[in-house]
Amino acid sequence: MMLRLIFPCIVLTSVLSAQQKRIFVITDAEGVAGVCHQHQTDPQGTDMPELLHGEVNAAVQGFFDGGADEVIVWDGHGAGTNMSATKIHPRARLILGAMPLNMTFDRKYTAVAFVGQHAMGNVQNAIMAHSFNSLGVQYMKVNGKPVGEIDIRAEIAGEFGTPVIFLSGDQAAADELKVIEPNAVSAVVKTAIGRNTCDSLSAVAARQLIQQKAKESMSKIGVAKPYVVKGPITLELEFTTRNSLPPDAKNWPAAKVIDDRTVRYSGATVLEAWTRYRGYR
Ligand SMILES: [Zn+2]
Repeated sequence: MMLRLIFPCIVLTSVLSAQQKRIFVITDAEGVAGVCHQHQTDPQGTDMPELLHGEVNAAVQGFFDGGADEVIVWDGHGAGTNMSATKIHPRARLILGAMPLNMTFDRKYTAVAFVGQHAMGNVQNAIMAHSFNSLGVQYMKVNGKPVGEIDIRAEIAGEFGTPVIFLSGDQAAADELKVIEPNAVSAVVKTAIGRNTCDSLSAVAARQLIQQKAKESMSKIGVAKPYVVKGPITLELEFTTRNSLPPDAKNWPAAKVIDDRTVRYSGATVLEAWTRYRGYR
């Protein structure tokens, strides 16, 4: 009798947990409304942390409004020391500090969202566009296609079966996501006049737009598809002049040195090639 009671309970519990909607939010600074110049991306002595919390909390509220059960926020700018548990939405969880290379996607989130995101390096009409390292990296390519933070993170999420449903940032970042996931919903909070000149919404207007669009994006769960790039993968990086390769670069595992600033990694998956790069540079 006990067994008969326990068995349906276990089945019910696992069905419920499978339906739990857990949204993972990747934050950055360069795509936040009102942040236009490099010095504003420093959390010390600027209003960036306040602007960032406002947008993140608006997105968190939007996801809950749209039916999320859990929202996990990663402070993804710089050293991950921009955000505070005293200022984050009370119902959100907050990850501070450096991430493992798989970004914790092995936790199998329901969907991924970007808040405060910028475009990849070398894109025109984009505010502070860069690929992971504005001083050190000229460009990155996966199987010949130029990529930045949006592509790489969407690809790693895709390996774990997780789609991207939402992005807030500048117009160029929104355009970049649209190419790889047309079903994702974007909140454009500013457009570029120049690299460090932006036409931005007010903080209040940006938050209202983000909350509304984040809620809307929850309807894309099951519609947006995980972004999977089929292997074998070649990850090519051209570093900047100041970041030329060290003399022993030719000995890095799975690395092929092309010239003084360019190196190629191979892997069965994006995460494997990415791990080979980040593990040795
Ligand atoms: Zn970034």
